[in-house]
Amino acid sequence: MLKAVLLDISGVLTEDGEALPGAVAALERLQASGLSLRFLTNTSRRTSAAVCEELQRLGFDVAPEQVFTAPGAIRRHLERHQLIPYLLIHERLEPEFADLPQGEADAVVLGDAEQRLDYTHLDAAFRLLLEGAPLLAVGTNRYFRQAGKLHLDVGPFVRALEYAAGIEARLLGKPSGDFFHAVLEDAGVAPVEALMVGDDVECDVAAAMAVGLEACLVRSGKYRPGDEAKAPEARCAASLADLVEALLAGR
Ligand SMILES: [Mg+2]
Repeated sequence: MLKAVLLDISGVLTEDGEALPGAVAALERLQASGLSLRFLTNTSRRTSAAVCEELQRLGFDVAPEQVFTAPGAIRRHLERHQLIPYLLIHERLEPEFADLPQGEADAVVLGDAEQRLDYTHLDAAFRLLLEGAPLLAVGTNRYFRQAGKLHLDVGPFVRALEYAAGIEARLLGKPSGDFFHAVLEDAGVAPVEALMVGDDVECDVAAAMAVGLEACLVRSGKYRPGDEAKAPEARCAASLADLVEALLAGR
């Protein structure tokens, strides 16, 4: 029986800082249905707190403890393993890590650092990796959508560093099974009792199905025609509103 719904944020609830049509009302209906809700994002240009505040500002009834971000997962990993990070991240994400111990870096944290993903910074990260520092990455998303265009995400830079240093990154956000399991544990449900909703067929949909969740690909956000073929077993819906309509009709 379905007990929890995990929702990707960008491309499902929001796009370009606006709520997608019908998304606020659809989320209200989901909440009223009594299902546990959690919100997941690999976004690494903003802190977890800023992600939650934006959702609240747009009218989504979301509590900070329901929001799971990839940078938040990296932070918990650093604390657990007492690692000092070399942060190759966006300047707006810096507050997420500001109160961690400082010192000589023994881990590389890689996010969507935008302009900082230049030769100098990547080269410095590469040398740390050669010395044995683990590469902790928010995800392997190939691209994201903003202002109607697709843009390079962090994935291509993860692969570049892996290739150069001959190592494998540790992924802390989607599509990591650990990330989904941490969210499920927080919600107190088993994988088969949860549905993941996303616009990224690989990192949201196929990844969730790989750990036993049901998943729905929404044709909003970064969705591109033909994506269905990469996860043929997944549900599909034109939007979150359409999915909610179908889900609740059967209850
Ligand atoms: Mg998305």
